[in-house]
Amino acid sequence: MTRSKDSSTSLRIAIQKSGRLTDKTVDLLHGIGIDFDNYKRNLMVKTRNFDVELLLLRDDDIPEYVQDGVCDLGFVGANEIHEKEADVTVLRGLNYGNCRLSLAAPKDGSIKKPEDFAGKTIATSYPNITSRFFTEKGIDINILEISGAVEITPQLEVADGISDLVSTGGTLLANGLEEISTILESETKLIRTNQELSPGKQELVEKFLVRIDGYQQAKQSRYIMMNAPKEAIKTIREIIPSMKSPTIVPLAESDMVAIHTVIPIKRFWIVMEELKAAGASDIVMLPIESMIL
Ligand code: ATP
Ligand code: ZN
Repeated sequence: MTRSKDSSTSLRIAIQKSGRLTDKTVDLLHGIGIDFDNYKRNLMVKTRNFDVELLLLRDDDIPEYVQDGVCDLGFVGANEIHEKEADVTVLRGLNYGNCRLSLAAPKDGSIKKPEDFAGKTIATSYPNITSRFFTEKGIDINILEISGAVEITPQLEVADGISDLVSTGGTLLANGLEEISTILESETKLIRTNQELSPGKQELVEKFLVRIDGYQQAKQSRYIMMNAPKEAIKTIREIIPSMKSPTIVPLAESDMVAIHTVIPIKRFWIVMEELKAAGASDIVMLPIESMIL
């Protein structure tokens, strides 16, 4: 599948055609200003304003397409990268599609820890990751590889336990299973081929990353505005871990100022009470589209 020469100039990016990662990946691409449509009906779509072609694939195929250089970049879960043992470079973790590959067994059974799986059969769609986990521990197990509905196999008595992706654990519970151990924590990654890219494409990759970083940073930040008495400025500056020095604007009421700044969203709720106690009022929080630092 290796492309002998990096002939095309468009950056080719693989995304999941239809599944759990699709909406968030499409939102991210739109969010960094890459315009396209009809991705639901086509296998390949051209974008209007950035030299990018999107290839819509099954997520299982993405690591190999990127490894072989058929696509230059890809958005795919760490679980698939590890399962395929793909030779690719992870450029960014994207903090969506979070899940874990976990071992689970019937709640009322005798399997309570990984060692209890010795000699047992584990059903999974992730035979490689699961085997590696047990091999490293020196435990012999049998793998039953299946592609879907893994969680019902213990009830059908075709397996003693499973190794499957979990996000909330609700599906396990509904099937009378309990989690025994986490094998792998996963999130969506942006991956790059290790095949050589033309200088033009390399430049596009760098531009793409600047946009992604701006988007990620913006998602985790909020623009906040508040009014406060002048004498509270010092205390408020100490409370807000601002990225830069805040903007301070005098208000018509001579002893009051408006303070504008950007803070990480996680901090906002923690510092809100402190800001009020310091005399801040009319606190407004706004989302940010992008931030280029
Ligand atoms: P495809 O047709 O593309 O092969 P699929 O059925 O294999 O789709 P999805 O169920 O859409 O895949 O899951 C895609 C990815 O979403 C997974 O590989 C994983 O990285 C992530 N994910 C997040 N939470 C979960 C979850 N609870 N169960 C399964 N996958 C999850
Ligand atoms: Zn898949």
